[in-house]
Amino acid sequence: MNQTYLLLGANLGKPLEQLAEARIQIEHHIGRLTKASGLYESEAWGLEDQPNFINQVIKVETILSPDDLLKQTQQIETNLGRVRHEKWGARLIDIDILYYNNSCINQENLTIPHPYIQERNFVLAPLAEIAADFEHPVLHKTNLVLFQNCKDSLSVNILK
Ligand code: ATP
Ligand code: CA
Ligand code: CA
Repeated sequence: MNQTYLLLGANLGKPLEQLAEARIQIEHHIGRLTKASGLYESEAWGLEDQPNFINQVIKVETILSPDDLLKQTQQIETNLGRVRHEKWGARLIDIDILYYNNSCINQENLTIPHPYIQERNFVLAPLAEIAADFEHPVLHKTNLVLFQNCKDSLSVNILK
């Protein structure tokens, strides 16, 4: 069984509902959800003039290959109504593959580990919550150390 960490994000519509629906579809089409971080509200990164995001990291067990996993995450994004595909823009749902076992993949359409993990508080806060000691297979630092070293100044707050 493969272990993958996925980042869920939304900043349009009803983000909490879309994340809940995404988790249901992930269990259905990808595999068993074995860990879930809290829900975090984060300032938008990259293209900053847009609503705050709700983000969450989940750990999922799957038999899917990385390519099939990407297909399924993109299908679930479509199922949930994601239409616009502007990089870093506002969206109903975004599902990024952060890690897949200890694999390092560099294809045109798929980079694993996700290339911006170490630059984003909104990824590292939930990731360090559920996988503090997991070591990044390229940078060889744990998620907790990456979070402590991250220069991102955008705020991320766990929802109570
Ligand atoms: P970012 O990847 O910086 O968070 P984004 O999520 O806004 O930006 P998208 O528009 O959702 O980017 O996706 C653009 C493309 O990224 C997708 O079509 C997909 O092929 C590619 N991609 C590469 N690596 C990954 C990955 N690890 N997880 C998800 N998509 C990836
Ligand atoms: Ca993303
Ligand atoms: Ca994405």
